[in-house]
Amino acid sequence: MTIPDEYREHIHFGKIYISLRRSCRMIRKEKLRQTISRVSMKKAIVLLSGGLDSTTALYVAKSQGFDELYALTFRYGQKHDKEIQSAVAVARKAGVKEHKIVELLLNQWKGCSLTDPEMTIHDGDVARDTIPDTYVPARNMVFLSVAASYADALGVTDIFIGVSEVDYSGYVDCREEFIRSMEQTINLGTVLGAEQKRKITLHAPFLHMTKAEEIKLGTSLGVDFGMTWSCYRGTEKPCGTCDSCLLRAKAFREAGIKDPLTDESE
Ligand SMILES: [Zn+2]
Repeated sequence: MTIPDEYREHIHFGKIYISLRRSCRMIRKEKLRQTISRVSMKKAIVLLSGGLDSTTALYVAKSQGFDELYALTFRYGQKHDKEIQSAVAVARKAGVKEHKIVELLLNQWKGCSLTDPEMTIHDGDVARDTIPDTYVPARNMVFLSVAASYADALGVTDIFIGVSEVDYSGYVDCREEFIRSMEQTINLGTVLGAEQKRKITLHAPFLHMTKAEEIKLGTSLGVDFGMTWSCYRGTEKPCGTCDSCLLRAKAFREAGIKDPLTDESE
């Protein structure tokens, strides 16, 4: 059948119209797919010092389905950067999306042996019931405030911190009362929490766990403790006598697991 000339143009534009509609549908589908993928990624920020607790917290976040992780490490004027090196290695191995190292020099005021060059880091004593001079004044409050800023900027509502009020050195900013209060403050002081009403949760999975329990959990989650650094001193190998080394050794002993960083449980 011959198509009259006056209709040919209509058919031509009709084909273009159908083709355009198809393209638009494909673009809409692709945009929908991208949105679904963005929404389904569970995001979390993890405070990562490079020590045993924060590394395990990172793996707990992963195990809870948080698949887009943002690690946050602080250079706060520590006398050595061994734990920062560990944090970098751990973050890389865990495949975090972004790792920020924030410089916040808390060594500008005195009184903490971890940051004050005039003070010596003394040998530890796990039986002590006073707060040792390795306490960095209000460190976790400062760190969590920065994490809140990062969360508000990213639109992330979950923050992980590896504190415990069971096996710790008596630091006040490791206690549940402080963590819950800080969570409330973060929700009141961020656009995410106060305006968008998207509740920000502070996850402290080890708050009521012993370090030994935490090590067992970390082992089951595939944490390589040999990559972590706990010692307060920047010696080549962990000193074995500072508060942090003593707590770590005791915990591995209680867990019945060998610390790959030392020969302590052999
Ligand atoms: Zn040590």
